[in-house]
Amino acid sequence: MKIFKTLALAGALTAGTMATAQEKFITIGTGGQTGVYFVVGQSICRLVNRGSADHGLKCTAPSTGGSIANINAIKAGDMDMGVAQSDWQFHAFNGTSKFEGAQFDNLRAVFSVHGEPFNVIARKDSGIKSFDDLKGKRVNIGNPGSGQRATMEVVMDAKGWTLDDFALASELKPAEQAAALGDNKVDAIIYTVGHPNGSIQEAVSTIDAELVPVTGDAIDGLINDNPYYAAATIPGGMYKGTDADVNTFGVKATFVTSADVDEDTIYQVVKAVFDNFDRFKRLHPAFENLTEEEMISGGLSAPLHAGAAKYYKERGWIE
Ligand code: GLU
Repeated sequence: MKIFKTLALAGALTAGTMATAQEKFITIGTGGQTGVYFVVGQSICRLVNRGSADHGLKCTAPSTGGSIANINAIKAGDMDMGVAQSDWQFHAFNGTSKFEGAQFDNLRAVFSVHGEPFNVIARKDSGIKSFDDLKGKRVNIGNPGSGQRATMEVVMDAKGWTLDDFALASELKPAEQAAALGDNKVDAIIYTVGHPNGSIQEAVSTIDAELVPVTGDAIDGLINDNPYYAAATIPGGMYKGTDADVNTFGVKATFVTSADVDEDTIYQVVKAVFDNFDRFKRLHPAFENLTEEEMISGGLSAPLHAGAAKYYKERGWIE
């Protein structure tokens, strides 16, 4: 980001030391502060910044609108890296779906992270027991720029629904939607997010609400026709009010960048994560079961960034 480069230069001028002159500020696009992307970005930056004295990188990971906003910010050069759902990585790189006419062929994959089920959380007094019951209800379909909003549009298309099928379709951000559900402003909220997470815990802690299944022919079709979707199950008992397993479909959270970001920067970021992998996995319960092998292959459709490939080769993980 231009503004950060200027700041780095100002720092160099005042301090006048070699170390400051080498500083490079890098940014990671995340999601809402109550989501897991925010923790992904903050965790990566924390590990990168431990090595700042050696490599000069200073990493920040601000809250953003989510997947689509991150991909667009990377494309515009406003951010260096970001977290994005595997479905939107695929579409951005291939110029399909929402990215038709806006292909980003310089998009590069770095690694994938945790799985993200497409979650529908409904007030129990709304009578919503399945995705189809959302018809005629007040539903938070998500803020534009978020992955859940874009994926919700895909699901609606697959079912032949429009916004008119809801009594109300609100566009609240993740950080606002739990309160809206609690205040009975909406009957249900949509959130493509890793588990367990604080936002859903908050939503179900004060009111009677539950996760509802997202299944049926349209969903099976999406899973069968698209490599980036898979069936997903949220284990019963993970959230108050939801005792049985809940079936839905899901994507993966992935970490992406642009071919325009230099090789050494991405190499250092990837090295910071995988040289400290046990530490990284402890930073959020959704990271607990991550494996290096799955992270460098699963959910990735854009080519690997050269800096990531260099590190994976050094470790002998790829040829
Ligand atoms: N999957 C969401 C999105 O793409 C973000 C979830 C999170 O913040 O953890 O916008």
